Amino acid sequence: MADIYDVVIIGGGPGGYNCAIRAGQLGLKVVCIESRGKLGGTCLNVGCIPSKALLHASHLFDAAQNEFASLGIKTGKVELDLTQMMAQKADAVEGLTKGIEFLFKKNKVDYLKGRGKILGKGKVEVELTEGGKQVLETKNIVIATGSEPTTLPGIEIDEERIVSNTGALSLKAVPKKLVLIGAGVIGLEMGSVWARLGSEVTVVEYLDRILPPADAEVAKDAERIFKKQGLTFKLGTKVTGVEKTKSKLKVNIEPAKGGDTETLDADVVIVAIGRKPYTDGLGLENVGGKTDKRGVIEVTDHFKVTDGVWAVGDCIPGPMLAHKAEDDGTAVAELIAGKAGHVDYNLVPSVVYTNPEMAWVGKNEEELKAAGVDYAKGKFPFMANSRARTNHQTLGFVKILTEKGTDKILGAHMIGTGVGEMIAEICVAMEFGAASEDIARTSHAHPTLSEAVRQAAMAVEGWAMQM
Ligand SMILES: Cc1cc2nc3c(=O)[nH]c(=O)nc-3n(C[C@H](O)[C@H](O)[C@H](O)COP(=O)(O)OP(=O)(O)OC[C@H]3O[C@@H](n4cnc5c(N)ncnc54)[C@H](O)[C@@H]3O)c2cc1C
Repeated sequence: MADIYDVVIIGGGPGGYNCAIRAGQLGLKVVCIESRGKLGGTCLNVGCIPSKALLHASHLFDAAQNEFASLGIKTGKVELDLTQMMAQKADAVEGLTKGIEFLFKKNKVDYLKGRGKILGKGKVEVELTEGGKQVLETKNIVIATGSEPTTLPGIEIDEERIVSNTGALSLKAVPKKLVLIGAGVIGLEMGSVWARLGSEVTVVEYLDRILPPADAEVAKDAERIFKKQGLTFKLGTKVTGVEKTKSKLKVNIEPAKGGDTETLDADVVIVAIGRKPYTDGLGLENVGGKTDKRGVIEVTDHFKVTDGVWAVGDCIPGPMLAHKAEDDGTAVAELIAGKAGHVDYNLVPSVVYTNPEMAWVGKNEEELKAAGVDYAKGKFPFMANSRARTNHQTLGFVKILTEKGTDKILGAHMIGTGVGEMIAEICVAMEFGAASEDIARTSHAHPTLSEAVRQAAMAVEGWAMQM
């Protein structure tokens, strides 16, 4: 009879693999089961990493055509080699997935390729990829099965012409006309890539604004900038169907509140309306696990589904982000090892990797107003930041929100070059319960973009010195 595991993890994405590595570090006997044949989950294989590889390459392609000349760099004719752009993306993914296999070995984590199914308390059956079945016995089961794309009723994704975020990362040619359904983070990142590579992009969004979770002021500025970059927005509009002809797609739209219908021509349609938890064939019911009507697994504040069964990442409540899944997984490994483990979802940052980037953490102005919080606000534009001006990257601003009276930071909202890195400073400050004055009185190197964060913190109490 095989040994009994301390932890069996189902799913090898950021939630599962980080849980496995931390459990290994803590001396637990752990195995991770993954069905896609590669570790890294959605994030490494069809999410964060390939999308960032294409965003980076397409940004340079755009910059070479539209920015380099003004910096005194003559490039001659710039041409797109889409095959090579996709190959460098695959290379980045391959290297990173292999890296996780190395980390598993280093931390004595067993890795099984196959599909896991919970048979009951302490029992997981694995349908092995290489054939056959194996039943594992364990003291703890961690569900880290992640999420999958959702679509609209009547719109069938074929991953060739009507694509989800997965197909959108592997198009074989640049579509002339691209319709993007959904103006959320993933949609806008994908729309930016293909617009930079030459597509005419129309974004159809049901709500009357883009980026619903972002601060409204940031979203408004982003919309203005994206329009200048050539994206067309149809806001407050719903897609009622997509008709396929041999050569074209016809996207039928109408105002969300009702009214005249319109048809948009497209070569490719990207459906980016969100993702839903993935729990197909998992056997959750065999341990009394429950999901809500969206399929989200119900857990306690400390990730428990039921005794000896835990769940982390995209399949439980909270932001569907890789670093949130990572934090969940780490916390569960620590809880199983008898340590403390907790994640504050209010301090999980969000980043949109467009150009310029957007980043935020904590509460936005709309949320503070709705909660009746008396808040103060400090704002500083990159136009007044010396490094931004030197680099001709003056779009956007930093906004810091604090509690009136205590000056405690409640949230920060940024749009501008490099803000995806700069938001980490605010996360650390908020973890320590900092006031805006703490940031305002902290030395920031000159000339850096992060001086804008310091100036925004000064602006909260009205003493921004560079504007
Ligand atoms: C296009 C795109 C871009 C994104 N960009 C970002 C970004 O920039 N930053 C960010 O933070 N987040 C980003 N995300 C979100 C991020 O990818 C997810 O939040 C993250 O991957 C969730 O991690 P997870 O471990 O919960 O699930 P997943 O990464 O989905 O991993 C779950 C794994 O479990 C496996 N699995 C499922 N069922 C079973 C089973 N029964 N047996 C065995 N294996 C199973 C699946 O094959 C999968 O590999 C992006 C997502 C997409 C789609």
